[in-house]
Amino acid sequence: MAELVDALDSKSSAFGHVGSSPTAPTAVMATYNRFPLTLVRGKGCWVWDEQDRQYLDAVAGIATCSLGHSDKVLQRELSQQLNKLQHVSNLYGIREQEDLARWLVNHSCADSVFFCNSGAEANEAAIKLARKHGHLRRGIDRPVILTASSSFHGRTLAALSATGQPKYHQGFQPMLEGFEFFSYNDLESFEQLLNQLEAQGPRVAAVLIEPLQGEGGVIPGDPAFFQAIRDLCSERQILLIFDEVQVGMGRTGHWWGYQQLGVEPDAFTLAKGLGGGHAVGALLVKQKADLFEPGDHASTFGGNPFACKAALTVATEIERRELLLNVQQQGDQLRAGLSNLVQCFPKQLKEVRGWGLLQGLVVQEQSSITASNIVLAALDQQLLLVAAGPKVVRMVPPLVIQAGEIRQLLKQLEAAIKSCI
Ligand SMILES: *Cc1c(COP(=O)(O)O)cnc(C)c1O
Repeated sequence: MAELVDALDSKSSAFGHVGSSPTAPTAVMATYNRFPLTLVRGKGCWVWDEQDRQYLDAVAGIATCSLGHSDKVLQRELSQQLNKLQHVSNLYGIREQEDLARWLVNHSCADSVFFCNSGAEANEAAIKLARKHGHLRRGIDRPVILTASSSFHGRTLAALSATGQPKYHQGFQPMLEGFEFFSYNDLESFEQLLNQLEAQGPRVAAVLIEPLQGEGGVIPGDPAFFQAIRDLCSERQILLIFDEVQVGMGRTGHWWGYQQLGVEPDAFTLAKGLGGGHAVGALLVKQKADLFEPGDHASTFGGNPFACKAALTVATEIERRELLLNVQQQGDQLRAGLSNLVQCFPKQLKEVRGWGLLQGLVVQEQSSITASNIVLAALDQQLLLVAAGPKVVRMVPPLVIQAGEIRQLLKQLEAAIKSCI
């Protein structure tokens, strides 16, 4: 016993103030390459580190903190909810869950909602739904789901198997069977795969696709491509499922990414921005895709009163403060500023792409600088950015960002780029 205490003592002294800085030894598993920075508080679009240095936050928890940090209304509503009811099982009716589902159904093409806790979980639900559809409606023994190369659908095994980026699969094979990949925005590739798989009859249950590829490099979907796959799916009773985990809930200046494309999916998934920084995910389906029966799928925490109150508050505040319009206006301003930077640094920067307040600044292929060079240099300018692949700097600030803050972001970004060349 004494030995154990000694060991713990020597360990704790050797480890110093564990957790004070990500560079110090830590008991947290090393699944992330972390920046040398610990954030301790936030307000609106701003966050502060332990040394009380202030940063403009264009990461926002990676597109999650829709209303910014420490939002007054969210604080009020969630404190009240904490005092009222935090968690009950889905074995009972949950009023906040009913309200959120009603709001989502009233504001989208969907007719019903399943709640979970994350993007990966929402996609797992979608994958199970797709397989059930394949068995039930198309009579397929071993249904296949088509997904795109350079896609990202999450880190759990089925979502990972659906992800069309081999680097994420490495070391974790075998992947789940039943996923086949086509090139994003490439109709020839899609038709070839579909026809090859279905040459001897039905094989494909669903297509799972992002309206805009986020992690894959901020690549917007092509409306003509999406219209074509919509038609092909409808013809064959194949479910078209959109992964709206990053783009849904107002990020693009519309509620849903599919509105940017003019095409409605049969089902779609949400998470990131839905809870304004709280863990909530959802699978939304049209009536014809509402196939789950009691016992088919479940989640202990999914749809609990607290998480649903957070999401409902985010939704109603986006409406009350007319934030979709703000996203369009500030998105335009951000985009114009970024295009200007591309013109100023043509050797280093290639283009800007994205929708609303999800914008990617693409670094030239031949340039000696990478996206992470710019992200690190921005940290010195007290600006938080996140890369999307080796060549794209991504900007996903809170939806409440104002014109002055966009100007500041652009100034800090320009200084960061100058400092890397
Ligand atoms: C982030 C993301 C996911 C995974 O969400 P988690 O909440 O991290 O599981 C899935 N799909 C897309 C498009 C994403 O951007």
